[in-house]
Amino acid sequence: PPPGAPDIEIARAARMRPILGLAEEKLGLTPDALIPHGHYKAKLTHDAIAGLRERPRGKLVLVTAITPTTAGEGKTTTSVGLNDGLNHLGARSIVCLREPALGPCFGMKGGAAGGGRAQLLPMEDINLHFNGDFHAVTAAHNLLSAMLDNHLHWGNAQDIDVRRITWKRVIDMNDRALRNITIGLGGPAHGVPREDGFDIIAASEVMAILCLAEDLDDLQRRLGAIVIGYRRDKTPVTARDIGADGSMAVLLRDALQPNLVQSIEHAPAFVHGGPFGNIAHGCSSVIATKAALALADIVVTEAGFGADLGAEKFLDIKCRQADLRPDAAVLVCTVRALKAQGGVAKADLGRENVEAVRRGGDNLRQHIRILRAFGLAPIIGLNDFTGDSDTERAAIENICAEEGVRLVLARHWAEGGTGAADLAQAVLDALDAPREPVRLIYPDDAPLGEKIRAVATGLYQASDIALSDMAARKLGEYEALGFGHLPVCIAKTQYSFSADAARGSDVAGHVLPVRDVKLSAGAGYVVALCGEIMTMPGLPRQPAALGIGLDRDGEIVGLS
Ligand code: ADP
Ligand code: MG
Repeated sequence: PPPGAPDIEIARAARMRPILGLAEEKLGLTPDALIPHGHYKAKLTHDAIAGLRERPRGKLVLVTAITPTTAGEGKTTTSVGLNDGLNHLGARSIVCLREPALGPCFGMKGGAAGGGRAQLLPMEDINLHFNGDFHAVTAAHNLLSAMLDNHLHWGNAQDIDVRRITWKRVIDMNDRALRNITIGLGGPAHGVPREDGFDIIAASEVMAILCLAEDLDDLQRRLGAIVIGYRRDKTPVTARDIGADGSMAVLLRDALQPNLVQSIEHAPAFVHGGPFGNIAHGCSSVIATKAALALADIVVTEAGFGADLGAEKFLDIKCRQADLRPDAAVLVCTVRALKAQGGVAKADLGRENVEAVRRGGDNLRQHIRILRAFGLAPIIGLNDFTGDSDTERAAIENICAEEGVRLVLARHWAEGGTGAADLAQAVLDALDAPREPVRLIYPDDAPLGEKIRAVATGLYQASDIALSDMAARKLGEYEALGFGHLPVCIAKTQYSFSADAARGSDVAGHVLPVRDVKLSAGAGYVVALCGEIMTMPGLPRQPAALGIGLDRDGEIVGLS
């Protein structure tokens, strides 16, 4: 395919290698360690994972980004390209990514298996129904919903207050009509009427649990701890209280095994789990990361959205819980995102505008400060787009020189691993260089409100936080119930350091409003809801689904 051909055409033209042979050659995994799903996808077995526990760990490389535009700035693409580049340089490296959800594929953003020459294969399988994992999460989540409503129907022995049920239903689809619904209508034979609603699958606490569980025991323990609502005496009711945890764990047993696939250049990749980056922690699974660290010398992994949301949660939630620490960080930057931060409207992002790049540079500077606050020295990966001008690139070079960070132009989208060789070399250099220890932003024993304040003032340039009365009261209740040691998961817009998307990078002195808080006791964090957070998006006026179909040969067209 010519440069710039649709992702699916590039993907289809690539020749995949049988996954079992690739796993043996690249990762030393014998076929008995894997459960093949067809020829090109396989799950790493629970036994094999257990056998890796005592192995020495490789180095962990975090890929994060500046504040994105709605199109995404190429974290996944850069993660895939960097892994290809590292393999190209002879390193034993693997990439760990999230699984795509259907909503973006058929809505606006497209799939999430990389792009251009930096893609994972088989891209259509990864983007659609991938080994059934999301269906399993949906089933486990909705089993709990069904058991909850069944519990109400048969007498409500737990004395659950139907007005205080917090557990909703989920579906892997963007469908705004399901946001607010009424269930149980039709009379006594049909359940107890109550308000309910659907979230997208990425917002399911079960998804977050799948991604934070250390093993099957921990999975079941976390599922049992899920708080589904409150009794009339205000005490929390858990999944364990209504006996759902065992069956949920059964539905998730196979899904907890990481999926092994390959890039266009036959570099190995685990793609596993897909939690949201705002009301959840936004990272692929702990199980995959730890297995990867045991199997390879270098593990590249992506966090959600920009560094303010994604890297912070990767560190303060995933790394804190799983006792992981990254050894290096790549901050993906694009000319177009800096122009957007510099005030250029979406329709004009293709036009050269050096001034806007300079103005938007404040966003890059703040993301650098965020990573430095954790003790990380970021490498800036400038994701090269056709049409970026030399003067725009030079403006970014100047900013990086002023900030004392290394900037590397990355051309993996157009060229694959060779295009990312410079970035890969910069990462190898960083891994060899002496570095300070990584630190988390707050200690476990700080009060929950202080944890939110630490993130807001330390990373978001906020002067303070403003807890609503309800949020303050609930935080006190969570602490009284013994959840005060949990980390916080800040749910805010990905388009600004503030809670207001329209403010972009111009946020000095803002106060972060915490409207409400929510306990995710199974996942192990307290969500702080700052502004309106959409947990069930709708499709746009012209969804990508309009352009997707099958051709005469039964091949998929239009998926990007
Ligand atoms: P993120 O993971 O940061 O959300 P992705 O890597 O998924 O972003 O990229 C978002 C979209 O942009 C994808 O469709 C991808 O193919 C495309 N893309 C990424 N990098 C480039 C590039 N350098 N040139 C053109 N398109 C790109
Ligand atoms: Mg991504």
